[in-house]
Amino acid sequence: MKKGFRIIKFKKNKPILQVKGVSKSFDGRPILKKISMDLFPSEIIGLVGPNGSGKSTLYGTIIGRYKVDAGNILLNQKDITQKPIHERAKLGIAYLSQYRSVFNMSVFDNLLGIAQIVIKGAEKQHSIVEKLMTEFNLQHLRNINANLLSGGEIRRLQICRTLINNPKVILLDEPLAALDPIVVQEIQKFILKLQSFGCGIIISDHQVQNLFEIVDRAYVIGEQSIIAEGKPKEILKSTKARELYFGSFDS
Ligand code: ADP
Ligand code: MG
Repeated sequence: MKKGFRIIKFKKNKPILQVKGVSKSFDGRPILKKISMDLFPSEIIGLVGPNGSGKSTLYGTIIGRYKVDAGNILLNQKDITQKPIHERAKLGIAYLSQYRSVFNMSVFDNLLGIAQIVIKGAEKQHSIVEKLMTEFNLQHLRNINANLLSGGEIRRLQICRTLINNPKVILLDEPLAALDPIVVQEIQKFILKLQSFGCGIIISDHQVQNLFEIVDRAYVIGEQSIIAEGKPKEILKSTKARELYFGSFDS
């Protein structure tokens, strides 16, 4: 993908999201051990790790699907660790599932349904839905049942749905997985567009190449912990990340 069209500069003083020493186990099996991570407004962070390394579980602790065993989650410097999932969503944490989770109805109704829950006033609801459909190139698909959409189209719809609530933090779970190379480029472009909405973004993937083209920094998760963190170039030099994960991958 072409580089050099990032326009947003972000301030690195106050993180919008902080994960502090989060640990989580399922049925006594540790999945995450003391994970810490900072995300700044308008920053794009990559979360990389093999299948089963705990990426979705970490997202689950941030959105409030799972209770943490230890540690804290802070949004805008406020502790939200004890808040339930719907309150965190209201406060501005949006999550895009790695699965094709859409309602069995038209593209337009998928968006309007969410708008009707989170926005007051029919006129406003319709105008935001129209704006997002235009912005994310969905207008021509508006009457099509969402279950019939292609992989790239469904990702665009899912991204639009997350934006309706005006989120501060967007967690994208493997948004580039199982897409054709050309569609990967298109979704990369739309993810970069999200930056202009002022959101902090975390993107997970188990492949680095496509992800590292669009992130400012990344965290590598392995053996239940963060094994490397930094700019993509720095991470690729990390001996531990190479040993455990990348092998001889070159940028
Ligand atoms: P990733 O998203 O990195 O592929 P996951 O977070 O989905 O990894 O899974 C990490 C580990 O936690 C896996 O071994 C998975 O089987 C286990 N796991 C995930 N969710 C649950 C759950 N709800 N109950 C029990 N084990 C789970
Ligand atoms: Mg996952």
